[in-house]
Amino acid sequence: MSAKILLGCIADDFTGATDLANNLVRAGMRVVQTIGVPAGPLDAQADAVVVALKSRTIPAAEAVAQSLEALRWLQAQGARQIYFKYCSTFDSTPAGNIGPVTEALMDALGTDFTIATPAFPDNKRTVFKGYLFAGDVLLSECGMQNHPLTPMRDPNLVRVLQAQTRRPVGLIDHAVVAEGEAAIRARIAALRAQGVGIAIVDAVSNADLLRMAPALADLPLLTAGSGVAIGLPGNFGLAPSGQAAALPAAGGLRAIVSGSCSVATNGQVTDFIRQGGQALAIDPLRIAAGVDVAAEALAWAEARVADGPVLVYSTAEPAAVRAIQGELGVEEAGALVERTIAAIARGLVQRGVRQLVVAGGETSGACVQALGIAQMRIGGQIDPGVPWCHAVSDVAPEGLHITLKSGNFGTPDFFTKAFDLLQTQA
Ligand code: ADP
Repeated sequence: MSAKILLGCIADDFTGATDLANNLVRAGMRVVQTIGVPAGPLDAQADAVVVALKSRTIPAAEAVAQSLEALRWLQAQGARQIYFKYCSTFDSTPAGNIGPVTEALMDALGTDFTIATPAFPDNKRTVFKGYLFAGDVLLSECGMQNHPLTPMRDPNLVRVLQAQTRRPVGLIDHAVVAEGEAAIRARIAALRAQGVGIAIVDAVSNADLLRMAPALADLPLLTAGSGVAIGLPGNFGLAPSGQAAALPAAGGLRAIVSGSCSVATNGQVTDFIRQGGQALAIDPLRIAAGVDVAAEALAWAEARVADGPVLVYSTAEPAAVRAIQGELGVEEAGALVERTIAAIARGLVQRGVRQLVVAGGETSGACVQALGIAQMRIGGQIDPGVPWCHAVSDVAPEGLHITLKSGNFGTPDFFTKAFDLLQTQA
């Protein structure tokens, strides 16, 4: 039986969940991330649990149902406060899902007030006078206005959220945040008295996020990007410590699988090869032609992995990816490669790999599924937003170390740095 958790988090996508978990660990909480809502009680000691859903762009009613299921599970684990995590670019449409999920959680928790702030200054997402900036420009000028699923054409979050909710939306602006806890509490009381249900909160720096945290301690529900998390462990009397990030000692063989074609990953693959790393490229066209590319890759890896980390990758430059997609179709190419890399990841673990780096967001989802991983303990950060994790799999019952790097994260030497870091932590 595990002790009760303090903070229960519901994240609307997988890599966003890891980003939040990483911030909580850095601020002093022991964190477990679950893949979906667990069937049974938590079987680990943790201060916070982040339930990773895939609810960002599904129909609002389904997002609400899944979020409420996650809420009930987190409440059963004793969570004292609930945190609904969405993207720092507030990805949503007038149909939701941020507004409907927030309202459903408020109703279920019986609370008349919560906050909403996607601010994440470490990642250059800031909110000023209710307007969201990405880097130096407004949200509506940063490229998000062209997002295929959730185009963000209005940078004013009060208006954006008001279009998604029946409850009146208000603002706690920068001047109030700058004054600190007492002023923020007074503003919350005033907004509540006016009938405002959800307040966008300005924050342009980590200092703002830390200043607002004590004023949020009594709210049953917080909704935010991952930034607000940096001040919350302090509300529960926890301070940053190496203990929070402690993972079991690392051992076993090392490997990297990469299905990401992002700019950063291309650089990381090149760097690994330049440093003399053992690497094998896999060809999507051969997979499509029926060749057992996974078996070939595993035979190649098996002969080499005892000598040091091996890299198996489909990573390619944009022109090559377009050519493959032209031949096979975008979705078919993606699905074929994901399935193959996931099979390779599983095969590598069956052959003794216990330190595994996965590059690519969708690729990570496929690998975690193929490994049968249901939950991960979050460890130390390799690069912003990317921690080492420890998880149990049916092919590694004693556990393995795994890190899931979404496309554009990480410095060029990420693949070598990740293993070095694990060595020094162990
Ligand atoms: P990222 O985090 O960089 O976006 P993802 O794993 O989320 O990476 O997405 C990359 C997608 O591209 C996956 O569906 C993957 O299967 C696919 N893919 C990988 N390599 C190739 C390739 N050489 N040609 C075409 N598609 C590819």
